[in-house]
Amino acid sequence: MAGQSFRLGVNVKRVTIIGGGFAGLAAAIRLCDAGYSVTLLERRQQLGGRTFSFTDPVTGDTVDNGQHLLMKCYRETLDFLERIGARDDVVFQSQFRIDFRHADGGAYTLRFPSFLPVPLNLLSGFLRFGAVHWTDIPPLRKIVAELHKDLDTGLTVDAWLDHCGQKPRMRRAFWDPLCIAALNQRPQNASARYLQAVLREAFLGEPDGARLGYARTGLSGLFENRAREYISKRGGEVVCGKAVTSIAPAPSDVRIHTRSGDVIDTDMCIAAVPPLQLARMICAKTFAELHHTLCQYEPSPIFSVNLWFDRPVMREPMCGLLGTTMEWVFNKSVLYGDHDRASEGFLTMVASAAHHLLHMSNDELIDLSCRELHQVFPKSRQAEVLQARVICEHAATCALPLSYAVPKTQTPHPRLFLAGDWTDTGLPPTIEGAVRSGYAAADAVLLK
Ligand SMILES: Cc1cc2nc3c(=O)[nH]c(=O)nc-3n(C[C@H](O)[C@H](O)[C@H](O)COP(=O)(O)OP(=O)(O)OC[C@H]3O[C@@H](n4cnc5c(N)ncnc54)[C@H](O)[C@@H]3O)c2cc1C
Repeated sequence: MAGQSFRLGVNVKRVTIIGGGFAGLAAAIRLCDAGYSVTLLERRQQLGGRTFSFTDPVTGDTVDNGQHLLMKCYRETLDFLERIGARDDVVFQSQFRIDFRHADGGAYTLRFPSFLPVPLNLLSGFLRFGAVHWTDIPPLRKIVAELHKDLDTGLTVDAWLDHCGQKPRMRRAFWDPLCIAALNQRPQNASARYLQAVLREAFLGEPDGARLGYARTGLSGLFENRAREYISKRGGEVVCGKAVTSIAPAPSDVRIHTRSGDVIDTDMCIAAVPPLQLARMICAKTFAELHHTLCQYEPSPIFSVNLWFDRPVMREPMCGLLGTTMEWVFNKSVLYGDHDRASEGFLTMVASAAHHLLHMSNDELIDLSCRELHQVFPKSRQAEVLQARVICEHAATCALPLSYAVPKTQTPHPRLFLAGDWTDTGLPPTIEGAVRSGYAAADAVLLK
């Protein structure tokens, strides 16, 4: 593209968005609000991308493709949900609290009191957190002091925690679970900048930004129809079952081909699909650098083992697990209450950044999950497993090796924009990253 220049007309209004996950939907609603003519093309028959739910055919319960947690500091996600009328279906804790169970039988609670400012709330929380010793706490000051620093792009979480003097006990009980859950990467590979960003958002932004939230319905029930209706009511079009095969930008428009043979000419295009899918759509020669970068993204899996016991085996809505392979257990009937279908005794156990589980069969994973649950909730030993379902999201998120620069919203072509949790939002790949990227892409279109 070197040497070519493009000029855009003043009446550019037709925008095609490819991908109906949070990023594409966020871009669509913002552009609809601005009066643009929006068409959203989604490959699958349903919207939601990596966030969806379905009805389990055996139990009739609503099962998510994986439990998703939000934080109170997810400001753009909450804005998105508010706009489409779904905000009330996300429930937040009244204060940050995680209950932990250890394989050795220990039970601990980490709670940051809402009435105390940062860092007093952290101090109070860790002093009462039995999984660490008070001597582990003073080095946390170093982390707090580093939150404002511009960390090196190549710095891993592991190296950063070492540099900040975090002791093994604090790492096992807090930092490692946090890194794996929030970044879906192990500390040895994860970017310290992403962990720093999570901590900044959670603790230095709005008060109580760390409070956890969850949907009180299945994920599809939360936003799929509402987002579709929002877009349709404002004149936008949502087309599911339409897989895009190529995006070819030209000086005056962008030409999109679909698998079913459509040729769509549009003024602007936002590609809100995962990086490896995008790499297949664009010309490797025209977008040489971008294409090369897209091909370097590495997927990271999340396993969810859904277990239906014949009786309730825990009371907590969720629990972090220490000293086990599975990292979390979610009590679905407590999380849903009366708002969606979940039998008593329906639990979801989760392991993130779980490359080490890829070789295991479903039966082995179910067996492992039951054994670990017996350790942490002995009551479950008397209960019978009626049904089990394993979901492996192989590419739950993906990340670049730290030496690569993360692609930005604007591509080398002025009519083609990128959105998705993997683009440069400063955040790790999360719902909030996806929504911010979608809004940013829409804003970039609006500026043209
Ligand atoms: C099991 C699991 C647990 C997670 N837990 C959390 C959590 O607790 N908190 C959190 O914040 N985040 C969590 N995440 C991450 C979160 O789900 C993602 O960051 C977010 O959904 C990404 O949205 P997106 O729009 O960027 O991408 P996607 O959701 O992947 O959307 C991309 C869309 O593009 C479509 N598409 C692809 N190719 C084409 C094509 N050729 N033509 C047309 N359409 C196409 C796809 O079908 C998809 O709908 C989790 C993810 C998983 C899988």
